[in-house]
Amino acid sequence: MGQAREGPLNGGEERLKLIIGRQKAQTRGNMDIAGKRRAAIVTDVQGCFATWKHGSLAVPGSDELYVRSVEAATRLLRSEGFFVLATQDWHPPDHISFAKNHPGKEPFDTIEINGRTQVLWPSHCVQGTDDARLLVDESLFAAVIRKAQNPLFDSYSAVQDDSGEKTGLEATLREKGIVSVVIYGIALDYCVRATAIDLVHAGFKTAVVESLCRGVSPETSVQAITQMREEGVNVVQDLHEALADSLSQGG
Ligand SMILES: [Zn+2]
Repeated sequence: MGQAREGPLNGGEERLKLIIGRQKAQTRGNMDIAGKRRAAIVTDVQGCFATWKHGSLAVPGSDELYVRSVEAATRLLRSEGFFVLATQDWHPPDHISFAKNHPGKEPFDTIEINGRTQVLWPSHCVQGTDDARLLVDESLFAAVIRKAQNPLFDSYSAVQDDSGEKTGLEATLREKGIVSVVIYGIALDYCVRATAIDLVHAGFKTAVVESLCRGVSPETSVQAITQMREEGVNVVQDLHEALADSLSQGG
């Protein structure tokens, strides 16, 4: 405005128009940037967790139709300008979460490790195996965050493992200026839950799309949804709700 007053009236008006024009352009630019400030995190949609691939730790309902619906949703979000990431459970064969590494224990037994309860799983998502492969078209992902690579610690959360060591997900989101995230995948009651809660605690506006998730069991899935909501995660039924939420102010 100060600039507009400096010159002759006509010139000033011209300049004012220019500034307004530029502001409009900037607003449009910001909306584009706002689009890019949203991220989608496709959690652990891998062979090991999918019934479709007869995975080593297949979660109910993770058939081909489910995986295709995740892929279609991911494609849509990418076309909407979302920064799209995948997470991938990526264990060494001697991983602490595998029952076979604890003599006398069976899959789904629990043990205490340093005051934490660790569920012992069938060996799954071993690094470099077909079982661990991502099932969604990898060309959709700007990055893949691999987790639980340390044999001594599990990592349901894609933000940090059980020792508190960061995976790089949070830093990547901050580097890209992301403010809101939409999460879906497998399993709702473990890795989706833990990742969503860590992200909401880290200050990201966080939504979980329930229809694009699959859970290990109905009971733990209900508990996970309650817990996520208590922590401030917006658990929505379908993608359109998540899209509307990611465009709304605040949170
Ligand atoms: Zn695992």
